Amino acid sequence: MKMRRWGILQGKEDDLLRDLKRTTLPFEKLGRKYGASRQAIHAFSKKQGIKRPVKPRGHQTEGCRLCQKLIQISKKPHSEFISIHTIVKEIGGSRVKYLYHLRTLRDKGLVDEKFGRLLSKRAEKAYAIYFKKRLPMLTIGRKVGLKNFPSIIAKHRKLGYEVPPSLYVYDGREKSRIQSEIQWRKQR
Ligand SMILES: [Zn+2]
Repeated sequence: MKMRRWGILQGKEDDLLRDLKRTTLPFEKLGRKYGASRQAIHAFSKKQGIKRPVKPRGHQTEGCRLCQKLIQISKKPHSEFISIHTIVKEIGGSRVKYLYHLRTLRDKGLVDEKFGRLLSKRAEKAYAIYFKKRLPMLTIGRKVGLKNFPSIIAKHRKLGYEVPPSLYVYDGREKSRIQSEIQWRKQR
């Protein structure tokens, strides 16, 4: 068997060259991988005139499980109306931890600026109904225990949330239905 050069087994030099050129693995780790000392890897790299890639700074969202999960959730329809509680529950872990990753993703433009900002679980529930069912806003509000759902919608629209128009058509007949609904509420 031919002896080692640079303390690296012959035949593995190509692999090492590739690792040196393409990865940011430290010499120490490469040494362990190739059965050579850190110094030997360093010397080999220098001799070959390799310019190693620079490790990117900041949080690496591509390799982060939490970030990837957040991106996945953010791709759901109307994801800006998913409350922070639901997001945290779905991912697991603490809210503080989650906020860090979310901020990074917003800064990088990988999730919408409004994603993860909804605090109210009731508003989340109300919106979920609003998007799917042909119901008056007051009825939806009553279902989830929100008195001011229409004003919440108005507030969100003002903040730039994309709230589609209600599936419920407020024509004359519907108006009288709302009136009777209000009456019904008063009587209870
Ligand atoms: Zn992350």
